[in-house]
Amino acid sequence: MIGAGVVGLASAAALLDRGHDVVCLDRLGPMAERSTGTSRIFRLAHNSATLIDLARQARAGWTRWSEATGQPLVRDVGCLVSGALTLPWTAAMRKANAPYEIVGADWAELRLPVRKAPDVLLYDVTGGAIETVRTGEYLAGVLGAALRVATVYALEQRDTAARVHTPDGPLDVDAVLIAAGAGTSPLAAQVGIYTPTVLEHHVRFTFATSRGGPLRSWIDQSPGMPSTYQHMAGPGRWTVGALFDNATLAWEVGRDEAVRASREAVVDYVREHLDGVDPTVLDELYCTTMAELGDGFHLRRNGPFTAVYGDNLFKFAPLLGDLLATAVTDGTEDAVDYL
Ligand SMILES: Cc1cc2nc3c(=O)[nH]c(=O)nc-3n(C[C@H](O)[C@H](O)[C@H](O)COP(=O)(O)OP(=O)(O)OC[C@H]3O[C@@H](n4cnc5c(N)ncnc54)[C@H](O)[C@@H]3O)c2cc1C
Repeated sequence: MIGAGVVGLASAAALLDRGHDVVCLDRLGPMAERSTGTSRIFRLAHNSATLIDLARQARAGWTRWSEATGQPLVRDVGCLVSGALTLPWTAAMRKANAPYEIVGADWAELRLPVRKAPDVLLYDVTGGAIETVRTGEYLAGVLGAALRVATVYALEQRDTAARVHTPDGPLDVDAVLIAAGAGTSPLAAQVGIYTPTVLEHHVRFTFATSRGGPLRSWIDQSPGMPSTYQHMAGPGRWTVGALFDNATLAWEVGRDEAVRASREAVVDYVREHLDGVDPTVLDELYCTTMAELGDGFHLRRNGPFTAVYGDNLFKFAPLLGDLLATAVTDGTEDAVDYL
């Protein structure tokens, strides 16, 4: 296993559970790159019935993990969807026979911290907010000594098996899962697997909110506004991430400028449109994402090597762990797309 983000950890945990010998290598340690931070949105709502069904299976996995930790790993606060996404996502929810409500004039009861609510909101009642730190601690605990800090700098096929090169020397293994986030593409390319290479910057910001109690997660693509996702990142803390255009977030723009421009635009948005949210940035969380990937995930295989990539993977983690454990041990088609 290469990568101890939530995907690599979930996959290693599933393999250990099935009785396999596993080593999970990460250059930084667990949950260090795209999986860092305190929270993520969980939602059933997607633009396809297939992804909704997969999210439903993932939700069952979250319940299983929560029971194992003795604490809820998903806060069941629901997730609201508005703007351009509402119609297509509602149609997909209907097709998947998933539970949802449509909220109109009675939006005030939802306590969204916003001055003027969108006309129509899709309310994904199964959605919520994931406790990411607890999730990482739980999975790292399951892995125990199987988790090691080491950079993988080369991969090599040896007959039907694989050699993994690290600064501590080579490791010979039956199969390798490359779940290395931004590091996946350069490693996969060494063993004849193509995964997308173009990265973008992304940053989300956390603000203080005076709205008490748990607040619902919210994804908005209303006209004339930046596309945002928003949720509670802890008591009294409201997080806003915005999906800006390529001119703001392209790799060539550079991290510092992308963060500066995002911060300025998000703070303006909070000041103008949110209610009960103080526009002073308390915290910022930066990561790379892959350009032009939406929801969904992708498996690519060549011999003993399997690579996984996708965006917004956290919510699918328990399901991904099971799917990838099966792919690595039983084999899979050379290319499988879950969209
Ligand atoms: C700000 C933000 C908000 C998000 N919001 C949501 C959300 O609301 N809902 C949702 O579902 N998802 C969300 N996501 C996406 C989700 O968090 C990621 O898709 C997921 O965490 C990716 O996990 P991963 O294990 O694939 O990658 P990572 O967490 O990046 O893990 C990959 C690991 O591989 C290691 N690695 C890389 N190269 C090497 C190498 N050569 N050798 C050894 N180790 C290596 C890295 O150190 C890293 O720890 C968000 C992400 C961010 C950053």
